[in-house]
Amino acid sequence: MPRIAELAIYDGNIITMNPSKPGAESLSTMNGIFLAVGSNRKVKKTLGKDTFILNLKGKTVLPGLIDCHVHLVKYGLQKTEIDLRNVKSIRELKGRLTRKVSSSAKGSWIVGHGWDQDRFEEKRYPTRLDLDEVAEENPVVLTRVCGHICVVNTAALRIAGISRETGPIHGGQIDMDPETGEPTGILRESAQDLLWKAVPPPTLKELEAAVLAACRDAVKVGLTSIHCLVDSSSEISALRTLRKRKKLPLRLSILPPRELLESLTALGITTGFGDDYLRIGPVKIFADGSLGARTAALAQDYSDDPGNKGIMIFNQDELNDIVEKAHKSDLQVAIHAIGDRAIEFALSAVENASSRFPRKDHRHRIEHASVLNRPLIKRMKDLNVIASIQPTFTISDFWVPQRVGPERARLVYPFKTLTKSGVVIAGSSDCPTEILNPILGIHAAVTRGGSVPEESLNVNEAVEAFTFNAAYASFEEESKGSIEVGKLADFVVLSEDITQISSERIKDVRVEMTVIGGRIVYTRRGFVTRYRP
Ligand SMILES: [Zn+2]
Repeated sequence: MPRIAELAIYDGNIITMNPSKPGAESLSTMNGIFLAVGSNRKVKKTLGKDTFILNLKGKTVLPGLIDCHVHLVKYGLQKTEIDLRNVKSIRELKGRLTRKVSSSAKGSWIVGHGWDQDRFEEKRYPTRLDLDEVAEENPVVLTRVCGHICVVNTAALRIAGISRETGPIHGGQIDMDPETGEPTGILRESAQDLLWKAVPPPTLKELEAAVLAACRDAVKVGLTSIHCLVDSSSEISALRTLRKRKKLPLRLSILPPRELLESLTALGITTGFGDDYLRIGPVKIFADGSLGARTAALAQDYSDDPGNKGIMIFNQDELNDIVEKAHKSDLQVAIHAIGDRAIEFALSAVENASSRFPRKDHRHRIEHASVLNRPLIKRMKDLNVIASIQPTFTISDFWVPQRVGPERARLVYPFKTLTKSGVVIAGSSDCPTEILNPILGIHAAVTRGGSVPEESLNVNEAVEAFTFNAAYASFEEESKGSIEVGKLADFVVLSEDITQISSERIKDVRVEMTVIGGRIVYTRRGFVTRYRP
């Protein structure tokens, strides 16, 4: 069989992320993998008369970008909801709700997301009474930007059967008005589940449409793989159906929720089950809440809320049991742990599982791993636990020093210290909490919006977090994460050399073209046309 390339690029500035051969000017692909990488002359030998050839005229090429933590279905669904990010007051929130009510059927559910009381001029949480003023007949649920708190109106409370009589909630809270004893409309953590049970779930068709809408956005920003958090088995069905119909434009690694752990182990499904486009990743386990909502579990009180240390979803024994069960069934775990107390619990659970059932290469992950300290970082390294980080949080979470005080803030999102300590950091957005765009993640990892500049990464380290390290976090570094012969032919062409421009300008770099498995899945309008050397 002659080895003839199907696609080739010429005269590129190829940053391979392969330390032994870091640069190249040309590459070619065949059957979805890289056939040749190197000089124009070397790659020319693999071309045939039907090879599709592009001249990049010096443009920069990176390995396909990977985002390790995306709520893909939720993001797709949210494209049809009210977007409340950047709303500056409860008044403005009510205005947006009014418009949505007027375009919605009477009695239908209205769903929104993205509000943040810290941005409101009123500096307080919205209440059900605020929402009732403009939405009496439609049940309304508006989720805070962090996803850990929502506000609902009276109609929604009524349908969900939540009242002053509702008893205490394990791992959550229904806020009650101290004067009237009635619910305020604010539901925290697992108390939100009571509400969502009352909302009709999206149909399979709606889920599929949501995934495709999200995937279209993803390839435009250079993503070739996503580690995708799902909430239910019906979301997995939607993904599986799309895969079967060969409709998935990019590669997805599924993070099933802890609630599906029993089913996975019963079926003997392990991390890695699937194919190059759709596979099972780690099981996602929540250990605590969020810093924004002051529900992340801290070892010491919140600096701006004395007496509050946040919420642990499980006690140590419960968490140990869950992690051990996954671990001994050859499943990787991804534990959401933001506060230092939650991270401590998560590490103890990994330590317990690994000592009882030693496994050479478990690659368990901590999602966020935000509030750290030196002993915790050392334990992460010793236990070989990966930090799944969201660099844009360093810019968005401007209130961190208020929440935890200046001393603890020094080691919140400590990317450089983690890297220097030998902890693998894998990059992500946590979209839709943040914008789906790895270039913004790289920019944030390098600039941090000016916060704790000594923890900034250099561009190479930041790109590595969104390529090689992210591939490592799903056991795929042998097939992804760098441009090397034999690896999957996933790469992106950028408008500028991201390594040579000032760090502030990184955020303006555009993706010109995204190639997955040797197939061009996205080209920006006006980008290069066909060319033969
Ligand atoms: Zn998340």
